[in-house]
Amino acid sequence: MKINFSYDLLIIGGGISASVFASKHLQNNIKKKIALIEVGRGLGGRSSTRISKRFKGWKLNHGAPNFNICNSKGNLLLKNYIDELLENKFIKVDDSELIFLCDENKLESVKKSEFISGNSYLSSFSMSELSQKIIDLNNFNGRVDLFFETLIVDLKFNNNEWTLTSMNGDIFKSKYLICSTNLLSHKRSLKILNIDKIPLRKAIPINEDKKIDLLLNFLDKQLFIPRLTFLIYTNENYSYKDFYSRKYRYFYLKKSLENKYKFERIIFQLQENNKLGIVVHTKNIDFINSYVNSKNEDLFKQKIFKNFNTLFEGNPSVNKLNANEEISIMKWRASQPTGCAVPLSLQFSRKYQIGFCGDWFEGEGFGRIEGSILSALLLEEKFKTQSNNFLSI
Ligand SMILES: Cc1cc2nc3c(=O)[nH]c(=O)nc-3n(C[C@H](O)[C@H](O)[C@H](O)COP(=O)(O)OP(=O)(O)OC[C@H]3O[C@@H](n4cnc5c(N)ncnc54)[C@H](O)[C@@H]3O)c2cc1C
Repeated sequence: MKINFSYDLLIIGGGISASVFASKHLQNNIKKKIALIEVGRGLGGRSSTRISKRFKGWKLNHGAPNFNICNSKGNLLLKNYIDELLENKFIKVDDSELIFLCDENKLESVKKSEFISGNSYLSSFSMSELSQKIIDLNNFNGRVDLFFETLIVDLKFNNNEWTLTSMNGDIFKSKYLICSTNLLSHKRSLKILNIDKIPLRKAIPINEDKKIDLLLNFLDKQLFIPRLTFLIYTNENYSYKDFYSRKYRYFYLKKSLENKYKFERIIFQLQENNKLGIVVHTKNIDFINSYVNSKNEDLFKQKIFKNFNTLFEGNPSVNKLNANEEISIMKWRASQPTGCAVPLSLQFSRKYQIGFCGDWFEGEGFGRIEGSILSALLLEEKFKTQSNNFLSI
């Protein structure tokens, strides 16, 4: 049965950016009803947690395992928000060990990963639960309805009202719309959703709003780095060679080793069941293509084990994996924006009552959680002042 829903505000996406925006918005608008619509099975987006039916008791953070905040310009909004997360004990300083693996035959300086500069923080729960906690903090009386496994495929703006249609035909209506994803504003939507016009362009014709035209122009030049993540469920006898009791342990590969073994970083994640989960990230395009084109997934998995074991041969901490470890492979379609960032000045259109947030906006947090959080905080500030106070009480 198709359903028709009406809200004060609709948010597309359930990643960290949408969660921060929803939470701050609820804090400032205590009587309004919000719907948050997410295609995935839960919150977190690219910083979420795999809870598998097959591997009970495991929680593997398969996107961003932690996050780093640089805030070199000392933005107070961001600083205060991170302090708030710390005070609420939602996050803690990440003191996990970080090891750079390098080729002994090559002199290489430490590669500066965009994911390690500044201060690093760890969720006190799983990454998906962090997004949930952020929303719950200000969600008194259940003012947010969460819709999962709901893919929005069409947007319309008529008579000062947004109408969203999902893949299965559900209709959502609201005066205001927040897009925390840029899928519906980017040309990749044509292929992914099998449509012939970018949904935002279809909803707002060219020359109707300069800001929207500019936003779409910037996005037209934005590209995405594809990624693969391998989730390794070790068997109960697997452990470190040395004594190490902290939750995480990160291994970063310097360029020559990344080229050789195809892995970018390897994160050991101690589970509540005391087993060791291993999450391996790769963004090596040839390796990703070889997976996409491989007809034999088992053979590809053997290659991952082989690379892992050769890489850690003789390592004082890490034991070899053997063939009875389980591995699951996750392919990210559009994992990290790159190239052209969108200016923050284009975040809100008063004329069309639409706002945007996410890691695809300009700044030092571009492509990272820092950018997702900051853009959400800035958007809520703009929303407060530019939405004619319609939503405030
Ligand atoms: C493998 C990997 C490792 C990473 N490591 C780090 C790290 O170490 N540190 C760091 O800071 N960052 C890291 N990142 C980047 C970080 O994960 C992202 O910057 C951040 O999670 C983005 O959050 P967001 O809310 O802006 O977007 P997203 O998390 O992408 O949220 C957008 C949500 O919208 C949903 N959605 C999209 N279109 C629709 C639609 N039409 N209908 C309904 N729902 C829709 C998506 O499913 C998604 O959940 C990593 C990313 C990946 C993929």
